[in-house]
Amino acid sequence: MKKILVTGGLGYIGSHVVVVLQEAGFDVTIIDDFSNSSIKVLENIFLITGIKPSFFEIDLKDKVKVDTFFKANKIDGIIHFAAYKAVGESVQKPLDYYRNNLEGLLNVLESMEQYQIDNFIFSSSCSVYGQADQMPIIEKTPLKRAESPYGKTKAMGEEIISDFTKAMNKNAISLRYFNPVGSHKSYLLGDKSSGIPNNLLPYITQTASGLREQLIVFGKDYETKDGTAIRDYVDVNDIADAHVLALQYLLHKKNKDKLEFFNLGSGTGSTVLEIIEAFERANNLKIPYTISNRREGDIQEAYADFSKAKEKLHWQPKTSLEISMKTAWEFEKKLKENEFKIPNH
Ligand code: UDP
Repeated sequence: MKKILVTGGLGYIGSHVVVVLQEAGFDVTIIDDFSNSSIKVLENIFLITGIKPSFFEIDLKDKVKVDTFFKANKIDGIIHFAAYKAVGESVQKPLDYYRNNLEGLLNVLESMEQYQIDNFIFSSSCSVYGQADQMPIIEKTPLKRAESPYGKTKAMGEEIISDFTKAMNKNAISLRYFNPVGSHKSYLLGDKSSGIPNNLLPYITQTASGLREQLIVFGKDYETKDGTAIRDYVDVNDIADAHVLALQYLLHKKNKDKLEFFNLGSGTGSTVLEIIEAFERANNLKIPYTISNRREGDIQEAYADFSKAKEKLHWQPKTSLEISMKTAWEFEKKLKENEFKIPNH
């Protein structure tokens, strides 16, 4: 049984990946520092799969703890999610982002070298493309400057991994996610960040549940069909499946290059207003919203060509936008129910 380390395994995408790895027969170990997650996610993973993953609370910047972990645990592959991800916050606190996202990555890569671990999957983002000139985006689309420090940590991360894999003869895949949405079919895992959500879908579901008064649509003066920005919304369960396929691809040595890149998107671009409408239609609800100015750092349009992932990883998205909208809402409702269940002391 191959032992896979998932850093950030209690986060939104990481937790879904842990579940599908366990279901595919991998022995999963999680490292997480609870910076944007909770121990409840670990319990929910156990409820879904019946398997308790090994868990270590480690901040990856803590080199001593990281080293102690790798000394004691034999690992066959690493899927590295652990990173800060709030675009707006990264503009306010760039050094926190550079230190956390890059130092954590460097410590993990150094351990790969020291403890002879060959396979690495990096959680990257379509933000590395910046505002691409051509749609849909393919992996060869030239990278523009990422707009935010967050996006830059992903672009720099890819550069670091590229140099490292060449020099040390390691194998890596960088998965560039477009906009993940939806939740696990049990509604036990989903997009639950601490504080006010930055991303569109959790903001919509929190507005639907009454936690937020209204959604603010950032910009209606883009050159798109309805003036709002276009993104590629792809179901988190489909994204999770791609990690298992990417891992098997590396373990079976199917890669030609030391570092290979794959876009993970649905292939379809949707405007913000189309997403609001899709959510309303799928759940028979109304979302109050107002239009405001563009958000700093936002691009007009991004959607993926995923044919490389289809050809090499045999991956393709299976979940409709309607289902993602439904599961996102069911997850939010369940969160609310759980809050109500907490007894008063
Ligand atoms: N968006 C919005 N209101 C919000 C959050 C997001 O209008 O409260 C828009 C945002 O400007 C972008 C799209 O929704 O056009 C997706 O934003 P998100 O932050 O989810 O992902 P991004 O593509 O920026 O990483």
